Formats: sequence, C-alpha cells, structure tokens
Amino acid sequence: MKRLGGIEAGGTKFVCAVGTGPDDLSAATFDTTTPWETLRGVIRFFHDSPVRAIGVGSFGPLDLAPESPTFGRITSTPKLEWQGCDLSGEISRALGVPVGIDTDVNAAALGEARWGAARDVSDFLYLTVGTGIGGGAVVGGRLVHGLVHPEMGHIRVPHDVDFDPFPGACPYHGDCLEGLASGTAIERRWGVPASRIESDHPAWELEAHYLALGLATWVCTLSPRRIVIGGGVMRHRRLFPLVRLELQRLLNGYVRNPALGPDIDRYVTPPGLGERSGVLGALVLAERACLGSGAR
Ligand code: ZN
Repeated sequence: MKRLGGIEAGGTKFVCAVGTGPDDLSAATFDTTTPWETLRGVIRFFHDSPVRAIGVGSFGPLDLAPESPTFGRITSTPKLEWQGCDLSGEISRALGVPVGIDTDVNAAALGEARWGAARDVSDFLYLTVGTGIGGGAVVGGRLVHGLVHPEMGHIRVPHDVDFDPFPGACPYHGDCLEGLASGTAIERRWGVPASRIESDHPAWELEAHYLALGLATWVCTLSPRRIVIGGGVMRHRRLFPLVRLELQRLLNGYVRNPALGPDIDRYVTPPGLGERSGVLGALVLAERACLGSGAR
C-alpha cells in the first residue's frame, strides 16, 4: 500500500486526504468542533480509507520540542477545548499507523517545496495571511524548528498610532504583526470582513505596509530566496502588487539581488498549490513518519 494520509487541522475545519501527491488526492472536510467529535470523523475517514502513515499540519501553537513529554500537543491556543490535545497520539493509537505532526504553515512549506512554488529553491519562507498570520522557514532544505517553532506572525512592527489608531487584535501582544494585519485585525479595524472591502479602500495600502514590514525583517534576517504567501486575505487582487512595491520601498535598494528588483513578481508569490499546500505537505509529513523521522 503506497497511499498516505494527510490532515490539515485548522481552527474552523479539518481537511483529510488520501493519496500520494497532487494528482491522486481524495479529500473530505470536517468542521472543527470539540476534539472528541472532530477526531471521531477524522478517524472514521481513515478507517474507511486505510493508509500506511498520516501527517498532520495543525493549528497551534504546538509543543514540537523533541525531548518534551508533551511533544505534538496543542499548547496555548485560545480554543480552550483543544489545549493539551494530543492530536498525533490519538490518531496513531486509534488507527495503528505512524503519525507525523508539525504546524500548519510548516506543512504547507513542505508541500510548496515538493510540488509547488518553491520546488527550485532550498531557502524560502511560506507565510499565510488569514484569520491569523503564520510562517514557516526552510533553510538549507530543512524546516527551521529551534526552540519550538517560529511564530512569525507575532513579530513586532512599527505602529504609528496617529496614522492607525487601531490598538491591534492579538490577545497576547495587541499590535504585533498578526494583531495589525491578520484578517481578524482588518475586520475589527474597518468593521467589515476583508473579503467585502473595495479595491480602492485605504485598507489595502495599510495592509501592504504592515506585511511588507514583516517581509523586510525576514529578508534581512533569513535572506530567503523566495517568499510564498497564501491565506484568504492574499486573495485580494491588489495585495500582491502593493506588497511587492512596499517591500522594495522599505529595503530601499540595500539588499542587492535581481529577486528584489526586476524579478520581484516571482520572489513574492502566491502558492503553486493554491489552497492545497497544507494538506499536500501533510503527505510529506506522513512519508517522513514512515521513515521514522517524526515531525522533522
Ligand atoms: Zn501577537
């Protein structure tokens, strides 16, 4: 049996899929309610479609310290029922197969590296800008984990409160990047969801400014060869061009590379796999679980 299982475990839905890659994926979706109810649906799905291993790209934060007795558990999520949930352990025990787990953004980065917009580079970032903001970094072909895992959405960015008096939406930091530029922040600042904000609204210049501040920080700290950005907010058609221009303005010619000049459209780019980066990346985690390398 070659088929692998992938789960993109999100805050509103769990996408479960069986296959070996983009061409043979069959998927089902379950609403994220309580852990017990959601996992019951997930386990039934894989019971009916057996696989040799499962990968989980999960919302978090997750405990990914290999030495930790609570490795793989969800930690300080505001979804209280999910705090401490041992997703990978529950699924592995119920189905008797190896299960690998990593963050949703790290899984998406693996998917983009294998089949998507980052196939040709060994150093890149995958970011998502949706309800929250998250990022995964691949450096030298390996996902960065470090202490736990990167929390790129929670970096601090300059916030001119005279220009933008919105205090920020992050429950931990207020005006961190996620607090200022996530879909949640956009909706609270302007009183309407991002999907309903017109193209000529000043919201988009402000959004591009904050996102580009984040990108400029990571260009200067990690020197990625590409930045792939997914998530619902990025679907707005003006956002990519605005972010690219603002990134160039903020860097002001200091980092010299054609990627940041004439090739910027290819440098800051949407995912090659559309909305399937996460669940396809979860298949890569499953493959690694088969090889016994767990989440790494
Ligand atoms: Zn924060």
